[in-house]
Amino acid sequence: MKVSFEGKVLAVKARIRLIRSFDQIPTHQYQGYILVMKGRAGEVERDFRVAIGPKAHEKHQFRIGDLVSGKGVPVSDPNTEWGEFYKISGLKLLERGSGPDNAPPGPEGGIAPALEVYRANSHRRLDRQTWEKQCFACPWGLDMVTEIIIDQWNSWKKKWRFETHCYGPKDCPKYNPGKPYRVPGRAAGMVYVDDDVERAAGQGDSEHD
Ligand code: SF4
Repeated sequence: MKVSFEGKVLAVKARIRLIRSFDQIPTHQYQGYILVMKGRAGEVERDFRVAIGPKAHEKHQFRIGDLVSGKGVPVSDPNTEWGEFYKISGLKLLERGSGPDNAPPGPEGGIAPALEVYRANSHRRLDRQTWEKQCFACPWGLDMVTEIIIDQWNSWKKKWRFETHCYGPKDCPKYNPGKPYRVPGRAAGMVYVDDDVERAAGQGDSEHD
């Protein structure tokens, strides 16, 4: 059953799923965008997140301060989706936020670019506390649903978690990588430490749809 919502946009983030398989370079699914919002969801005033498609963002170029309404289906498993509502219908931009149309993405907000730009930039890990405190408004800073295939010969054996990453410029003064992500393998005690080596060197762009 769809839930109606209306609220102000607090941040616009790309919605990109990360898929890991032990020591393989991760692959990605470029799904769209998330509007982080504050307002009414159903009958309740609160913060919530709405997953929208690339075309909706291309049309409206959402930004902080926009007043937006629509209806969406609550996600069935919050472990596998950062958005709270998806399959959005009746999406309306009711009022435009104060930011300019051409504001580049950055720590204060700006317009989230096309998903192709995210794909071309690739990402580096980002310390979660830094993401929460410094990068919340930045379209480059993502909390990514991460699917971990524990055993590539039995791909149904999976784990899910969330990882924070930055798709922004390498010289951003807010950037703090934090600790490398550790990826479990199929046997007890097997761990691969992903130190972002290929991506930090600008190589190993393994982005796939
Ligand atoms: S570190 Fe990355 S996510 Fe954070 S503000 Fe800078 S560009 Fe944005």
